[in-house]
Amino acid sequence: MENTTRTELSSMGEFGLINHLVQYFIPKVDSTIKDAGDDAAIVSPPLGEHLVLTTDLLVEGVHFDLMYTPLKHLGYKAVIVNLSDVCAMNAKPTQFTVSLAVSSKYSVEALEELYSGMLAACETYGVDLVGGDTTTIANGCAISITAIGFNKPEKLSLRSGAKPNDLLVVTGDLGGAYLGLQILEREKEVFLAAPGVQPLLEGYDYVIARQLKPEARLDVVQLLEQLEVKPTAMIDISDGLSSEIIHLAENSNCSFRVFEDKIPVSPEVQSCAKELNMDPTTCALNGGEDYELLFTISMDDYEKIKGNPNFSVIGHATPVGEKNILETKGGGVVELKAQGWKI
Ligand code: ADP
Ligand code: MG
Repeated sequence: MENTTRTELSSMGEFGLINHLVQYFIPKVDSTIKDAGDDAAIVSPPLGEHLVLTTDLLVEGVHFDLMYTPLKHLGYKAVIVNLSDVCAMNAKPTQFTVSLAVSSKYSVEALEELYSGMLAACETYGVDLVGGDTTTIANGCAISITAIGFNKPEKLSLRSGAKPNDLLVVTGDLGGAYLGLQILEREKEVFLAAPGVQPLLEGYDYVIARQLKPEARLDVVQLLEQLEVKPTAMIDISDGLSSEIIHLAENSNCSFRVFEDKIPVSPEVQSCAKELNMDPTTCALNGGEDYELLFTISMDDYEKIKGNPNFSVIGHATPVGEKNILETKGGGVVELKAQGWKI
């Protein structure tokens, strides 16, 4: 849905542009004392809580492709990837800043779209935009978001902390975002070869949404609090299950044994993987950007999460020095390797 009018960025001036873009962002979070518009934002930390701080940089052509990424989705996702990192510390995100480097190919209307996605993220997650920086760049666009959040010190979960026999738990289902990207890339190739041919995206809604509109699992942070479960270690899945398991293992000084038949894969992911001649388990292990949470819990907490549809227990921690093992559906064992994802 392209905007038909085009207002050049240069026509507004830096201050006019910033004021224009942030005008609909009304701070709602109690701890926001001063939002965008001064030299710096002011945040009042909740009494006795620690501040969690994270940042992520997205670069056009490296982390996103505007041929199939609507700017509104890009704005939403740029916020979400940061909120997901705050959630992965078992903290609640509260504020963020946005730094933008944009070339003149972007219009005011394009940036309005980008900011409408960020506004949607503010509304969904109850967070405030409290500032940023804006500059020009020769080509393309780069967006850097810095987010903060809070929680009581004893609630925060690091990547270290898993102990042998702890259970390994993952939220939601995996592999969808990677398959969504494959479909979008496939349709881009078709379009480039024959412009005018409509992309074939029907029937792939789930995997495309997983790629273009990921969510941060703040609901899981809240649920764990309600259930009185504190993960012994936690990480979010941005690079694929395999590599995140290896991060937990290295940071916690332990190893993991994972069972293929326990890895949650949705029916949509199954059928899409089949169609693309891919193994759904490989998509879950090595695909990226699902933004689910992967964490360990003490076995004593198993009863509290048992049967909850948000959680899948996929394995357990083993002593350091053992290999990180996937036990396959056929009963074989393979060592988990980090394929990683785009840096
Ligand atoms: P300074 O010269 O002090 O860096 P700026 O002119 O860059 O100030 O920014 C003015 C105000 O607008 C600041 O409060 C800043 O946080 C905010 N701001 C600047 N760019 C953005 C942006 N892209 N999105 C949101 N707020 C922004
Ligand atoms: Mg500035």
